[in-house]
Amino acid sequence: MNENKVIHPVLIVGAGPAGMTAAIYLARANVKFKIVDKYAPGGKMNITQLIENYPGVTNMTGPDLAFKMFEQVRELGVEIDYADVQKIRKDEDHFVVTSDEGEIFAKAVIIATGTQERKLRIPGEAKYTGRGVSYCAVCDGNLYKNDAIVIIGGGNSAIEEAVFVAKIVKEIHIVHRNENFRADDSLIEELRNSPNVKFHLNAIPTEIFGDQNGVTSIGIKNIVDGSEETLNVKAVFPFVGSDAVTDFLSEFDVRDEKGFVLVDHEMMTNVPGLFSIGDVNKKVLRQIVTATNDGAIAALAANRYIKKK
Ligand code: NAP
Repeated sequence: MNENKVIHPVLIVGAGPAGMTAAIYLARANVKFKIVDKYAPGGKMNITQLIENYPGVTNMTGPDLAFKMFEQVRELGVEIDYADVQKIRKDEDHFVVTSDEGEIFAKAVIIATGTQERKLRIPGEAKYTGRGVSYCAVCDGNLYKNDAIVIIGGGNSAIEEAVFVAKIVKEIHIVHRNENFRADDSLIEELRNSPNVKFHLNAIPTEIFGDQNGVTSIGIKNIVDGSEETLNVKAVFPFVGSDAVTDFLSEFDVRDEKGFVLVDHEMMTNVPGLFSIGDVNKKVLRQIVTATNDGAIAALAANRYIKKK
């Protein structure tokens, strides 16, 4: 064993709202810990246009709320380090976390890695990603002011982004494989009132076409009558759900069949000392408010765990 190795009391993996809340609670409890993230702190808040349902925040952009949380963390003297975690295993009484920045050792680990966008897995998607295919309409919608675009999906992400982009682009096609939407009724209502939106229900995308300049059209198929159609669009925005970012947990049996982490009421998995919080968990509601809730609970539980040790 390397005698010089530093074993952190707690390591937080991920600095979205869940991870940053855990950091705030640990810092205020005077617990020494390390927090790492693959990208910029904020997680999905960084690609959220408007936040109106977090108590105390009536109208703020996602990046603004992310920055406010980041500032709060920094004011407590916490630095967020950059590392892409690839594997976690347990070695006697502590965890060994393998990352692109080397190994990190910790007595307790809090997973807060969230989810990543699911792909359509149709021809043309990979080829035109970054050249018309984008997973953030809020970020890239402005590029298509005078064009028609398509949004795929019927959940809150798809419809929320559609409502926003409808105010910018010339025309939007919504392609949804169902007749009913998972998105909130109020969002659907708002979208239905936009004059430049065309709905294609019971339809799935089949192939994305393009040329040297990027996307030119998309093929769609009605799954009820089998009819096919080509929509002339300059951009394709898929919002067909997300998958948990948990590949690095393969050493443990802590995930459900879809890859989401299972935890108890203290946010601890069935592995003592391994906690998990936020969207990466199996849960009924993925929101900033439920992520911050998890972060606070896990921080206090992790503190109790390391004290007991
Ligand atoms: P989601 O709710 O799982 O919706 C995914 C949508 O994509 C569904 O309409 C689904 O159709 C469709 N879909 C799935 N696979 C497909 C495929 N291969 N081809 C075509 N369509 C496909 O995912 P989400 O919208 O990303 O939301 C994730 C979570 O975050 C949800 O809990 C959501 O409420 C939450 N969220 C909340 C807000 C907010 O409150 N403002 C904003 C964004 C996200 P089916 O309906 O037929 O299954």
